[in-house]
Amino acid sequence: MDYQRFFQNSLDQLKNEGRYRIFADLRRHCGDFPYATYRAVDGSEKTVTVWCSNDYLGMGQHPDVIAAMTLAAREMGAGAGGTRNIGGTSRYHNLLEQELASLHNKNAALLFTSGYIANEASLMTLASQLPDCVILSDEKNHASMIQGIRHSRAEKYVFQHNDVGHLESLLKQIAPHRAKIIAFESLYSMDGDFAPIAAICNLADRYNALTYLDEVHAVGLYGPQGSGVAARDGVMDRIDIIEGTLGKAFGVMGGYIAGSSAMVDFIRSHAPSFIFTTAMPPALAAAALASIQHLRQSNTERRQHQAKAHQLKALLHAQGLPVKKTDSHIVPLMVGNAVLCKQVTDLLLLDYDCYVQPINYPTVPRGSERLRLTPSPFHDDGMMDKLCTALAEIWQRLEITEKIKKAA
Ligand code: PLP
Repeated sequence: MDYQRFFQNSLDQLKNEGRYRIFADLRRHCGDFPYATYRAVDGSEKTVTVWCSNDYLGMGQHPDVIAAMTLAAREMGAGAGGTRNIGGTSRYHNLLEQELASLHNKNAALLFTSGYIANEASLMTLASQLPDCVILSDEKNHASMIQGIRHSRAEKYVFQHNDVGHLESLLKQIAPHRAKIIAFESLYSMDGDFAPIAAICNLADRYNALTYLDEVHAVGLYGPQGSGVAARDGVMDRIDIIEGTLGKAFGVMGGYIAGSSAMVDFIRSHAPSFIFTTAMPPALAAAALASIQHLRQSNTERRQHQAKAHQLKALLHAQGLPVKKTDSHIVPLMVGNAVLCKQVTDLLLLDYDCYVQPINYPTVPRGSERLRLTPSPFHDDGMMDKLCTALAEIWQRLEITEKIKKAA
């Protein structure tokens, strides 16, 4: 076996399909969100406006968050020094778990090193340990949920996206005595649509299933005190397991679940990727705690965030650009071709100093490649106008509308 050749061939194929990922080297300007210094491969540097950050509210640069992180690092050092079980649990980890449980009005919460690990570990553990368990998973669920379900080796049914009728037809086929978990997201981050949470909870009640809800793109942004879409819809108490991240609206890093004491303790006691890994640094926990506490008592960022998303969608629409209509803060601008999508983002960066990463397969289906724009409270009118004018010019220059029509 020629191993190197195998690797190279696979990479060449990604490049040919236009979906080879190139990471932008960015130095974000703390205190001047959303600006960053971009360093090109030739070593040249320039200031760019970042248009695709999941630090949705700029909380990663909030003075209270940075102060909390700095203080905790000075107090306890850089790392946790061990797994949660062996020396790695600090006062900040405990306080953060209490805060998260309170945010979601649950008895308990458990921290993980990322939202990805929270999903993978929790679903894997639940579905592999519950006797004769069946998972029902929305077809658009995130890779971390899919991976957790796969690793559990439990029987799995995939229901059509947000299709309650299809979900019920699957539930009907499953023997009533079997354990069941319905796994879904509250807000789908690539299309920006919400799940029919209450209707899914009705089915879960009728068929005695557990509900597992990923609120990664909603916590901090929706609902009272930023507690998520289930809370906004008045159904948070009907969700058995809420999963979230500390790395997006809260601006730091880490993931968590919240639910009943017994369920959380069960996952704490059985999930390998919780047990056998170094705990998140106490300074991260302290920073996340400060961020959550701020967003629980302030609606200002949430209000501005929604207003900016609304404004950007209207501006793009006015330019005749194919922006997807959404009721959320996600602004998907559809391109429909991986090579064109990359060309658009290259030109935006090179000629207009706007940084957006192209979104390609497998993150979205082939033929639905897009730009995913995430305006924050800090993106002002000038930045919006500049981006929209740039996109309109690029659309003309690359003749995107004509090319997509021809290919259809
Ligand atoms: N769940 C969803 C729906 C996501 O989109 C993501 C990441 O983008 C995750 C989970 C993983 O969260 P994290 O970035 O904290 O690992």
